[in-house]
Parts: sequence; structure tokens; C-alpha cells
Amino acid sequence: MADSKALLVLENFIGGKFVPCSSYIDSYNPSTGDVYCRVPDSGKEEVEAAVKAAQAAFPIWSSKSPLERSQILNKLADLIEHDLEAFAQAESKDQGKTIMFARTVDIPRAVYNFRFFASSILHHTTECTEMATVGCVHYTSRIPVGVAGLISPWNLPLYLLTWKIAPAIACGNTVVAKPSEMTSVTAWMMCRLLEKAGVPHGVVNVVFGTGAKAGEALVCHPDVPLISFTGSTLTAQRIMEKSAPHCKRLSLELGGKNPAIIFDDADLTQCIPVTLRSSFANQGEICLCTSRIFVQRGIYSEFLKRFVAEAKKWKVGNPSDPTVDVGALISKEHIEKVRSYVKKAQAEGARVLCGEGVDSLALPTGNQKGYFMLPTVITEVKDESCCMQEEIFGPVTCVVAFDTEEEVIKRANSVKYGLGATVWSSNVGRVHRVAQRLQSGLVWTNCWLVRDLNLPFGGMKASGVGREGAKDSYEFFTEVKTITIKH
Ligand code: NAD
Repeated sequence: MADSKALLVLENFIGGKFVPCSSYIDSYNPSTGDVYCRVPDSGKEEVEAAVKAAQAAFPIWSSKSPLERSQILNKLADLIEHDLEAFAQAESKDQGKTIMFARTVDIPRAVYNFRFFASSILHHTTECTEMATVGCVHYTSRIPVGVAGLISPWNLPLYLLTWKIAPAIACGNTVVAKPSEMTSVTAWMMCRLLEKAGVPHGVVNVVFGTGAKAGEALVCHPDVPLISFTGSTLTAQRIMEKSAPHCKRLSLELGGKNPAIIFDDADLTQCIPVTLRSSFANQGEICLCTSRIFVQRGIYSEFLKRFVAEAKKWKVGNPSDPTVDVGALISKEHIEKVRSYVKKAQAEGARVLCGEGVDSLALPTGNQKGYFMLPTVITEVKDESCCMQEEIFGPVTCVVAFDTEEEVIKRANSVKYGLGATVWSSNVGRVHRVAQRLQSGLVWTNCWLVRDLNLPFGGMKASGVGREGAKDSYEFFTEVKTITIKH
């Protein structure tokens, strides 16, 4: 454990001020296993203060024009972009992700989230109909909801938090945000820029702490009418229960068990590198990561040989080394859970072709206590196995063979989740047919993770409730009224 004097100590951000907390939680650097930061262990009291500050700021913020709010969001985007490298270094250290991923994905996307909603808020229109026979016009009007509660996970910390803050405040709401207790640093850094960007005090409040204490206090607060949550399905179930007495509006973006379906007419030269990325990017800690790869029997052996050979080339090590492809997993508990899935698969008779327990991992001296794991490919695994049914959320993927289109659709759909899927084929008719029948909120064909933020994002089944995106987030973060005028 590091010298406590050297620790970074975060404070809550309430009503435009940094406020210390009476107790703190240790936060670990996943690549060294050392405590390096202390995060406020907030509870009801801190959430209450943050909600009060957000309520006080609401009248002024909600009465600003979309253009005024848009200009402030753009300014905030510029300020984060100006400090991109510092944010990327902090995200990599806090989360374990590679510096390259933080530099090229997390922080640029956080910047873009603000720019995107700064623009989209200017272009919404409302509806109007006329009933000439009775002399009436009807129109809709959208107003902000109030204080929005925003709860985000640890895998893409600033990326996902800003994906909620940006639309919420663009629509005129004020917010109380609670990032994951394991990855709070970049949210705290963002708070330091809010005043300079022109965000009035109390519009964005950030309360740090655990889900059980701070998160639940937010979910149960009677003056927070709306919760946007990204995280696990289990937590979402609890949030639904706890918020039910208040009839809160919920947006829930949850876990996945995403299939890749590779037909024998797929272009493997394109498919293999993308499927490696979709399996192992960000240590496999992306809700959209592929973890079940179905390969048509004619190309199964060739795919497996090439895929495993390429997976072995992925470099695992110090996340701040720009040549590293796989950084550290988020925590000791998490890596143990991920490893336990590999052991269970082996106990069931599956074969581990590369990675965990098969290949050795040489780590730099400073990273020996970090939470590292090699990209792991499992085969000869049954569809009913927990490795094919449950979200592992690590660098582990299963590869199995299939024969027909009908069969693979059924097998791909035979899990409780329905977030993202990829389909690889050069037959246009087939990709449309399969995409229509997959139970997935997102289907990528011959690509992965290509996103247009205008379009809906979200999952089916246990992967979520609701959608986010330009129009969907606007609808979620506003209340619609229908007004009728008789002339
Ligand atoms: P988690 O559910 O444990 O925690 C998510 C957030 O909820 C954290 O801030 C946590 O402190 C808080 N929380 C926990 N218990 C709470 C409670 N009782 N009340 C209120 N808040 C509570 O999830 P995680 O482990 O941080 O993240 C990983 C999960 O997130 C995976 O399942 C992953 O698939 C999912 N995820 C989904 C998406 C998506 O867009 N669908 C994106 C990223 C991650």
C-alpha cells in the first residue's frame, strides 16, 4: 500500500464547490495492485445536498435557450479536448485500460458526446396537427424533467458518464451523477473544468461512492424523477425494485453475451482482425464485446487456426506502454471471477486453445501484482455452459461450429441477453435476413462498433430497457405535453 500522503484524494462536487467527505474508500491502480487514490464514501447526506443544489440550479438552467446551453457544452468539450492527454493518462491509470485505448477511444468520445448533444439539441422539432372542423390545433411541447440521477460503470468511465450528462443538461435538466467507485478520477477532473466552461453552479453535481450507499440513496431520492443507469443486469433489477414506489422513469443499459456469426462466404481477412478486437479490446470489458463466436463448419478449422495464431500476438502488459494491446482488468475480484469461468469450462471438458492456464505471461517488474490476463480462446464448449450463457466481461471468447442459418439464429438467441451481434457474410440477402431475426438491440454486419450517435443504442431482453441516442435521449430526458388550442 502506498504512503497515504502521496494518495490522490477526491472530493464530491456539489453546488459548484468541491466538498470533502467524512469517510473514504481506497481505489486501486489495477496495473500495480497498489492503492493510489481515495474516493469519498458518500451516502444519503451527500446525495441530499447534491439534489438540493441541483434543484436550486434548475429554474435558471432550464430557462436558458438550447443555443445558450449548446455553447456551454461546446466550451466544455473544448476544455476536455485541450487536456486530452492528462485525461487519457488518468483513465488508463485508474481503470487499467491501455493508454492507446484511452487516447483514441475513451477521451475523444467523451469530448464528442458533448459536441454531439450540443449540436443535436438545436435540431429537434415538435409535432403539430390541426382539426379544422372543430377549430383546434394541437401541438406538443417538451420540457426538461428536473433533477436527473445518472449512474455509470467502471469499464468506460468518462465515455459513459458524459454520454448521460451531455444529453441530460442539453435538454435543460440538472444532474446528480454517481460514477463507479472504482473509476472516479476523470469525473472529478471534469468537475474542475465546469466553471470555466460556463456551467452554472449546481447544474452538474457529482457524488462519489459505492452503489449500495451513494447509488441507492440517489435511486431512492423522492426528488429525482429519472434515473439513467448503465451497469449490470443484477444492479438494474435492484434499481427497478427500489425506484418502483416512486414510479421513476428509467433508462437501463445492461450486460451482454454478444454473438459473432461467421458464414463460410465471409471475408476472413477483414473478419479475423475485427473479431479479435471485438473479443479483446479494452480487456474484453466492453458491454458490446463478442464472447460467442459461431463459425460455419466449412471454414471452422481455418478460422480457428488463424484466430488463435493472431490472438497469441496480442501484447499484454503495462497499460502506459503504447505498444501494449491488453492492459489490466479492473480489480482482483473481477480477474478471479473471469479466471473461474475458464476453469469451469475446462472442468466441463472444453479446450482452452490459448491464454489463461495454457500460455505463460511475462510481466514487467512493476506490474507483477497487477490484474493481467492473456486473451483466451475456448472451444468444444456446449451452448448450455455458463461460459456460453453468462457475461464474463474479460478477455475470454468461445468459438463453436454451426451448420445452417436457421440453426445459428436459434443458438445465438438462446441466451437471456440481447445487446449486440455481428454477422459476417458477403451475401446481402442473408445479412438482412439474419439481422432481422437476431434478438439484439444492435446488429453489425461485416464490422463492429461503428456507431452513429443519432441512432438508437440499447439492448433487448436482459440487456436493457429503453434506448439512448439523439432522438431517444431527447425523449428520455424531457417530458412531453400535448397542448390543444381552440380558435
Ligand atoms: P454494476 O452494476 O456493478 O455498477 C454500475 C454502477 O451502479 C456503479 O456506479 C455502481 O456503484 C452502481 N451501483 C451498484 N449497486 C447499486 C445500487 N444498488 N443502486 C444504485 N447504484 C448501484 O456494474 P459494473 O460492474 O460497474 O459494470 C459492468 C457492467 O456494466 C457489465 O454488465 C456491462 O455489460 C455493463 N455495461 C453495459 C453497457 C451498455 O451500454 N449496455 C455499457 C457498459 C457496461
